[in-house]
Amino acid sequence: MGVYAVTGSASGMGAEVAEKLRAQGHTVIGVDIKAADVVADLSTAEGRKAAVDGVLAASGGTLDGVVLAAGLGPAPGAERPRLIVEVNYFGVVELLDGWHDALARADRAKVVVFASNATTTTPAVPGRAIRAMLAGDSAKAVKATRLFGKNAPAMAYGASKIAVSRWVRRQAVTARWAGAGIRLNALAPGAILTPLLEKQLATPAEAKAIRSFPVPIGGFGAAGQLADWVVFMLSDAADFLCGSIVFVDGGSDAWFRADDWPRAVPARRVPWYLKRMRAFAERA
Ligand code: NAD
Repeated sequence: MGVYAVTGSASGMGAEVAEKLRAQGHTVIGVDIKAADVVADLSTAEGRKAAVDGVLAASGGTLDGVVLAAGLGPAPGAERPRLIVEVNYFGVVELLDGWHDALARADRAKVVVFASNATTTTPAVPGRAIRAMLAGDSAKAVKATRLFGKNAPAMAYGASKIAVSRWVRRQAVTARWAGAGIRLNALAPGAILTPLLEKQLATPAEAKAIRSFPVPIGGFGAAGQLADWVVFMLSDAADFLCGSIVFVDGGSDAWFRADDWPRAVPARRVPWYLKRMRAFAERA
């Protein structure tokens, strides 16, 4: 049986994941701002450090897998963009950095990060905010979303999930992560009926936008089903999964972006492609 850390374990999909892992006999160290084994506020650097240390102490130094489900949705509010950037992006990458060595100590450790189909279905997300997060500059990222007025939370949300997805894909293939046997992947849910979505549905303007959003299969996803995907991505069956963003969204991403991916490397990038081939062959 394994030892797993789950952030956002007090509610929604994180709570479902924690319950399913415990039911299988695993040890779960839950992290949340309330009602968790490690209570920590992931919107601050001190809280993130406390989460890293608390989990390492409780785990005994080895983690078979971690699930990063803590997150905030794009609800209205002046403070929201900052909280979204801090929790959804830095609350993932700083924790993973702190837990890296404990994951490397396990045999074929698995990481599942919660992204979102907001990555590919929210229009006009500012690239400057995404780049700022990837460069570690939260203040700049928040500032780049504020230009959008009342749409700032939606822009911060889309940017945080794109940035974290890119971080996962960039890091997953490196010697530090893949080379240490750690499988780093993300799940990109669509609208899933959890307290996060229920809160949005309680606001008439947001409810209208959510209900008119194209979902080809219809309705909302179930938190328990998404948790089953996570448990699968933590299992031996996922040993060959590396750097993938798995969309489970009722078809919204395909509705908007059917022809955007998969896409061949364009002819003008063939020199870059050959360089990448050589770089892999020369890896230490
Ligand atoms: P939820 O609101 O039910 O749970 C989120 C958890 O994160 C809560 O327990 C909350 O306390 C915790 N959290 C929030 N701020 C925190 C902080 N500062 N410090 C520590 N913990 C904090 O949400 P959910 O719907 O289960 O979402 C889980 C993840 O899935 C999130 O990352 C969310 O962005 C993502 N997601 C959700 C949906 C959806 O429709 N529900 C869709 C796509 C992606």
